[in-house]
Amino acid sequence: MNASTVLDNLIANTGEKTCWFCKKRSATKEAAVTVPMHRTTNVSRSGQYRTKTGRTARTYTYTYNSATVDVPRCQDCMREHKKAGTASTLAGLGGFFLILIFGTWVGGLMLSGLVDYPRLYGLVISFCVACAWVGVLVWHETWALERRGTAPLSKKLDYPGVKSLLAAGWKEGSKPR
Ligand SMILES: [Zn+2]
Repeated sequence: MNASTVLDNLIANTGEKTCWFCKKRSATKEAAVTVPMHRTTNVSRSGQYRTKTGRTARTYTYTYNSATVDVPRCQDCMREHKKAGTASTLAGLGGFFLILIFGTWVGGLMLSGLVDYPRLYGLVISFCVACAWVGVLVWHETWALERRGTAPLSKKLDYPGVKSLLAAGWKEGSKPR
């Protein structure tokens, strides 16, 4: 499959009226998920420079095609995805602060020479609770979403328009990294 065939398929796909994530409600233009894609067509050596440590490093110039695929989505699924996104942000922040607090606590106890077994058990239990909390929020994003009939946002990569590009050697993202 060459690039133009893929792009023709893509254009055919943008006419989709049903939401890809619940497969029952109508997709709206504002709720569509935009997936930027690119394919590197050529990599050439463009020069070289000396690093701080005195080694010679080369620079490369990438030539690439880029395209965006709009995955059809409905308003309800957009709301679900937003909620799930907020949940995972909270899980990340919560996990970070819990580890920070417990770390400071353990450090303080160790420095003051007050570490004893009951306290240590308390710490282990608290840490497990923190991990469980993060687990619950991650579960919320995947399983709970699907139970309400909305596939997780990561399923955008299974959309035929995206899948056919991936199969043709395209990658997610607007440019080579
Ligand atoms: Zn939907």
